[in-house]
Amino acid sequence: MQKNYDVVIVGGGMVGSLLACALGDSHLKIAVLERVPPAAPPVEDYDLRVSAITLASSTVFRAVGAWPGIERRRISELREMRVWDASGAGTIHFDSADIGEPRLGYIIENSVIVAALRERLQQCANVDYRCPADIAEIVVECAHMSTGEPGTARSRAAPGEVSVALKDGQHIKACVLIGADGTHSLVRRTLGVESVSLDLRQKGIVATVATERAHEHIAWQRFLPTGPLAFLPLGDSHMSSIVWSADRPRADELLGLDDAAFLAQLQAASGDCLGEIASVGARAAFPLALSHAQRYTAARVALVGDAAHIVHPLAGQGVNLGFMDAATLAEVILDASVRKRDIGTIDVLRRYERWRKADNLAMLAVTGAFRYLFGSTWPALSALRNLGLGLTNAAAPVKNLIMRHACGLDGDLPRLARRPLQQ
Ligand SMILES: Cc1cc2nc3c(=O)[nH]c(=O)nc-3n(C[C@H](O)[C@H](O)[C@H](O)COP(=O)(O)OP(=O)(O)OC[C@H]3O[C@@H](n4cnc5c(N)ncnc54)[C@H](O)[C@@H]3O)c2cc1C
Repeated sequence: MQKNYDVVIVGGGMVGSLLACALGDSHLKIAVLERVPPAAPPVEDYDLRVSAITLASSTVFRAVGAWPGIERRRISELREMRVWDASGAGTIHFDSADIGEPRLGYIIENSVIVAALRERLQQCANVDYRCPADIAEIVVECAHMSTGEPGTARSRAAPGEVSVALKDGQHIKACVLIGADGTHSLVRRTLGVESVSLDLRQKGIVATVATERAHEHIAWQRFLPTGPLAFLPLGDSHMSSIVWSADRPRADELLGLDDAAFLAQLQAASGDCLGEIASVGARAAFPLALSHAQRYTAARVALVGDAAHIVHPLAGQGVNLGFMDAATLAEVILDASVRKRDIGTIDVLRRYERWRKADNLAMLAVTGAFRYLFGSTWPALSALRNLGLGLTNAAAPVKNLIMRHACGLDGDLPRLARRPLQQ
C-alpha cells in the first residue's frame, strides 16, 4: 500500500514530535515514523530522564498547544542556578530575579514532554503518527540511500520525492524527509553525512534522590575534576534529579556500588549543597560525546536535534537546541509552502541550516570548553578558570547577558519562540 505526504519525519521523540506539532493544523500532510512506543510517565516515581527546558522552548510549547498537557502532568520551576568548583575557589550564581524573570526555565521529565506532544498530535487531523514503524529502506530522488539491498528500490523514487519502505510492506512518499532520529540517526547515515565527533570517555549517571533540605527551585552544579555533578529540582520540594558526569572508569565504579556506598560517594561529591542525601532510586548511565553533522540538509532531506548535533549535558541545552531546530525548520517549510515553492529544494532547506548552525556550533564549543576547563587539574588553568568565574559573577551586565542567552530570551529566534508581549 502507498501513502503520500508532504513531510515525513523519522523519529517521534521530543524533537520530532515537536516538529510535527509545529506543522500541525497546517495545509501540509505530515507522517511521523517512530520505531519504539514511548513509555508513559511513571505514576509513583519520577522518570529517570529529565530535561532543563529554557524559556524559549516553553514559549514554543505554548505556541503549538502542548503546554497544558505538560502542566497537567508534572513540572518544576527553575529559579536559580548555583555553579561552583570543587575547590570552592570559583563560584557563580544565576538568579532569574536579576533579569526580571520569575524563573530561568523548567525541569520536566522527558516522558511528560513526549506524552504531551503526542496528545496534541492526536488533535491534528493532518498528522499521521505511525508507531511502531520499522523502516526497511529510504530512497531519495538524487541520492540513493538504502538500508536494504543496494539498488533494490531505486526505481520507486520519482524525481522530486522521497520514498520510505516499511518492513510491513507499506510505502510512504513525501516531498521532504526529516531525520529526527537521534544520535545514531539512520537518515544521517544513509544520506552519507559525516559527523565530527569526540568521545568524551565519560558517562552521565542519572537518578532521583531525596534530600534533607528543600531545593527551593535551585539547580546546583559542582564541577569535580572527574566531571560535573548537577542536582535539578523536581516537583516535590525534597526531590531532585541528578546528572553525574564522570570519566568512564569512575562512572563504572559508581554504577557497581550498592545504594549505601553510592549514597556515601554522592554525599561527598555534593559538597552538602542540599544537606544529607536520604535516598537514591534506580540509576542509569548514558555515554557522553560531542558531535556535529557536517551538513544538516541535502535536497529533500534535513536533520534536526541529536541527529544533527550532540552537546555535553552540563549546560542543559541539548534538547533545547533541537526544539529551536524544529521551530525554525517548521517556519522555513511553512513560509516556502505559502509562497507555493517546492518545500524540498536545497535552497529552501539551506535557509534552515544557515539559521541554526552558528547557534548549535557555539553551544558545542562552550560545553566542550567547560568540560575540559573544569576537568583540568593543572594549577595555572584552575586559577585562571576560577578567576574567570569570579569576574563573571561580579560583572552583573555580563552575567545577565549570559543568563538571557541561556534562557533563549536573546538571539535570532524563530517566530514560535518569540514571546507575545503580555506573557
Ligand atoms: C544524561 C543526559 C542529560 C541531559 N539533560 C538535558 C537537559 O537537562 N536539557 C537539555 O536540553 N538536554 C539534555 N540532554 C540532551 C537531550 O536528552 C537530547 O538532546 C534529546 O533527547 C534529543 O532529542 P531527539 O528527539 O533529537 O533525539 P532522541 O531523544 O534520541 O529521539 C529520537 C527518536 O527517534 C526514534 N528513532 C531512532 N531511530 C529510528 C528509526 N530508524 N525509525 C524510527 N524511529 C527511530 C527513537 O526511538 C526516538 O524516539 C541530556 C542528555 C543526557 C545524556
